[in-house]
Amino acid sequence: MADHSADIASLGDLTGKRVLVRSDLNVPLDGAPGATRITDDGRIRASVPTIKRLSDAGARVVVVAHLGRPDGAPDPEFSLAPVAARLGELLQRDVAFASDTVGESAMATVAALADGDVAVLENVRFNPGETSKDDDVRRSFAGQLGQLADAFVSDGFGVVHRKQASVYDIALHLPSAMGELVAAEIDVLRRLTVDPERPYVVVLGGSKVSDKLGVIDNLLEKADKLLIGGGMVFTFLAAQGHEVGKSLLEEDQLDICRGYLREAAERGVEIVLPADIVVDTTFPTGDTEPQPQVVAADAIPADALGLDIGPESAKAFASALADAKTVFWNGPMGVFETDAFAGGTRAVADALTRMDGLSVVGGGDSAAAVRQLGFDEAAFGHISTGGGASLEYLEGKELPGIAVLERD
Ligand code: ADP
Ligand code: MG
Repeated sequence: MADHSADIASLGDLTGKRVLVRSDLNVPLDGAPGATRITDDGRIRASVPTIKRLSDAGARVVVVAHLGRPDGAPDPEFSLAPVAARLGELLQRDVAFASDTVGESAMATVAALADGDVAVLENVRFNPGETSKDDDVRRSFAGQLGQLADAFVSDGFGVVHRKQASVYDIALHLPSAMGELVAAEIDVLRRLTVDPERPYVVVLGGSKVSDKLGVIDNLLEKADKLLIGGGMVFTFLAAQGHEVGKSLLEEDQLDICRGYLREAAERGVEIVLPADIVVDTTFPTGDTEPQPQVVAADAIPADALGLDIGPESAKAFASALADAKTVFWNGPMGVFETDAFAGGTRAVADALTRMDGLSVVGGGDSAAAVRQLGFDEAAFGHISTGGGASLEYLEGKELPGIAVLERD
């Protein structure tokens, strides 16, 4: 992608201008409607710098966002009202809330804004036009949104891979710019794909190979080393002819994994698979005490399933990461949710905090693992807020919400 996208400064003097900001405020909620609690406000916090910058510049800020997956109609369970309240606390100022997105309440709320004021519109997915597959339906809804503002700022990184009205079509209606969060995420992703500092090591894990094929495909062309752990490793081990017992195995991906092993050898990219594996006879349920056992990766017993990379492998992965200058890590090395199988994930996370250079963590569960295992998030170069969007970027796909800002 070319680097000619507009930043907020390109919108000129914002005093008195109505600026529509698409943020990603899709936070986890707990409790009944009317008495909900936000269990993790990370995405709201990540949205604050752009909103604050616009407000400080004298804009009349109109925040548009979604929560959950309502069915294109109002549903109190998915109201953004508690999110607007939390945003107000974080901004330390009053935040107005419109009980609809483009209706009477939204129009009145926006009309009442003074310079520097902030309003949040109700869940944009209460309108079927937001996610419609019909371009005309989406465009017409985006037109209604566009009436509420003089400019658009795209700051919802978690949704920029979606061709939706408040992400994509709106930018065709209004002068548009990238918000600070999106600009920072894209900057990091560029450093992972364009001329990365070497050695460049990619660590992949998580549950399924099939989820990550596109990323492996694209990064095999760019990385120097690929370390593989997690559930996906067993399809690679099986592709090498090893018995994997009851471990996660995607039979239909065996040929593809063989292809990757061959391609890596041809390109001189080193694929590092674990030499030892932590196994148990059942998947951890919390009901019974785990009985972890370390076995060689080529000697997994038929009645065992692999739940983490072993201690030797954890050491080998950590030392491969020690002198890396660029690292992208996606997917836990084991079932980290259970402490007995968290060692590999802990070792990789720890190595990322110690290396010099750019360390990037992508993926919802990987980011959760880092927090759950007690690491200081500031010790990592970057923890992406948008799993799906960063993976699609690293697959080499165009992100509609970015492309629309970068068009000439
Ligand atoms: P991310 O969200 O970071 O992209 P994924 O969603 O791909 O990561 O995978 C995360 C899940 O993978 C975790 O819940 C973890 O328990 C699971 N996992 C890791 N290793 C294994 C394994 N050996 N067997 C089964 N599941 C695994
Ligand atoms: Mg996940």
